[in-house]
Amino acid sequence: MSKKRCSLCHSFESDENPIYFQKDFYICNNCCQRNDIESIMAMVRVNDRIDNIEYNEEDIVDFSNISPKILKSALDDYVIGQDEAKKLLSVAVYNHYKRISQKNMICDDDVEITKSNILLLGPTGSGKTLMAQTFAKFLDVPIAISDATSLTQAGYVGEDVENILTRLYQAADCDIERTQMGIVFIDEIDKIARVSENRSITRDVSGEGVQQALLKIIEGSIVNISPQGGRKHPHQEFIQIDTTNILFICGGAFDGLNDIIKQRLGGNMLGFNSDKKAINNDENYFHLVDSGDLMNYGMIPELIGRLHIIATLNEINQDAMLNILLKPKNSLIKQYQKMFSLDNVELEFEEKALRLIAQKAIDRKTGARALRAVMEGLMVDLMFDIKEYVGCKLIITSDFVSGNKPPMLIKKSVKNNGKTKKKIV
Ligand code: ADP
Repeated sequence: MSKKRCSLCHSFESDENPIYFQKDFYICNNCCQRNDIESIMAMVRVNDRIDNIEYNEEDIVDFSNISPKILKSALDDYVIGQDEAKKLLSVAVYNHYKRISQKNMICDDDVEITKSNILLLGPTGSGKTLMAQTFAKFLDVPIAISDATSLTQAGYVGEDVENILTRLYQAADCDIERTQMGIVFIDEIDKIARVSENRSITRDVSGEGVQQALLKIIEGSIVNISPQGGRKHPHQEFIQIDTTNILFICGGAFDGLNDIIKQRLGGNMLGFNSDKKAINNDENYFHLVDSGDLMNYGMIPELIGRLHIIATLNEINQDAMLNILLKPKNSLIKQYQKMFSLDNVELEFEEKALRLIAQKAIDRKTGARALRAVMEGLMVDLMFDIKEYVGCKLIITSDFVSGNKPPMLIKKSVKNNGKTKKKIV
């Protein structure tokens, strides 16, 4: 007998997560609790359309059924915490695609909504790239992820800025229409800051040149790209890409920016404004950033002026780390459990063990990105010996994580009248 499946998250019916039948779709208990019914209905309609859509030159996705709330709940499935940034970003992405659909509609007024690009400030491994990727997947638009450090201004050794668009064009399966409404994520944008008298870091002058080059594509213009990428040369064939509807999301950790913000805030408190709160040296003031701070950091005003929306992400603490291990739809723990279950091994983690894994990841100081490396290191021997555990339950304990003991192993033996478990270690 076939099992019922949620039309929204596609999970199968289970005792813990029953599935209800609504007018013309199935919805599971988890999705019901996460969303209000209006969002659910709209989301199902969007999902159905995206699932069934086939692209061709004239076919542009209709975003009219999407709302910021729907976008945020799509992010909630994969990105833990960062609520303020998720909200801000959902509104920005919604407005961006609404702007595109407004362009495709015939309007009798002359009001044209201008393009807003996004700047994400936050420590490494806090979810900046993940958010951009999740949006692209949910909206089914192509995405190109680039690292600003690899870019140089034309004529210098390195990658031309236009190559970002080539990558987007390739992600869109060489479909120009789709390329022109994709998402470009540029990471490490802070690394192309020009040298500023306020900071002591040294960086080659080409940082400013790259910012100027980026400016051209971000503000919306027709750009010639070479379909295969690489450096431009005179005898090459070019494709013209209009970047007006491409959403640019830039991200960076901006080390040292906090001091610039603190300096400004502290400066304001001089004189008679002594009732203002004192600056706490350990606190993060990224949420109070303004464009002046970014200029002081070394970003050129023209580029800051094109990144209208600034969202800040928090550092991942131990609780968030724990949730990242467990909660996202494709969380690492779920992935390992699935991988082991394919060999008929049941994998369980004690809470203390999970906390220890989270702490080990924090110690590496690369944000949630470290979780995968910590888990790989922990599980590699077990995966190597996987065939020895077939039919067993493996319990990952804190002693195992700290390297003191092997994991707990429970052999499951089947008796005539049902299953019984026998502990062997
Ligand atoms: P960055 O902020 O440096 O762009 P990423 O978004 O690339 O970081 O995060 C690296 C990995 O860490 C992601 O692939 C994801 O597995 C995990 N991760 C980071 N932040 C989060 C988060 N807030 N929620 C869930 N997973 C996260």
